Amino acid sequence: MTCPACDDLGILPVNYTDEPQHYALCLCPIGERWRKADNCGKPTNPLWHIWAAQNNVPHERIVKLEDFASSEELASFGFVELSAETAMSAIAAAARQRKIT
Ligand SMILES: [Zn+2]
Repeated sequence: MTCPACDDLGILPVNYTDEPQHYALCLCPIGERWRKADNCGKPTNPLWHIWAAQNNVPHERIVKLEDFASSEELASFGFVELSAETAMSAIAAAARQRKIT
């Protein structure tokens, strides 16, 4: 299934008025992968730092989709009733269901 928010890239462009281009980390399983910040249980920099370096985007221009979008916008992408806690549960549930190929 293609993510309607990020087209399966995990990171999507978002625009604040009068601000340089920002990007948001999606709430789908691919976005969740970019948010991963551990390696075998040891804390590391999140993977999105690599994306930022590859794309020459300063870290401060990357936000979490749930911090940027309204709940109506999130619902339009199929992400409903997200609080920080439910977002984490949704991400964890998606991660558990994902098969490693
Ligand atoms: Zn997505």
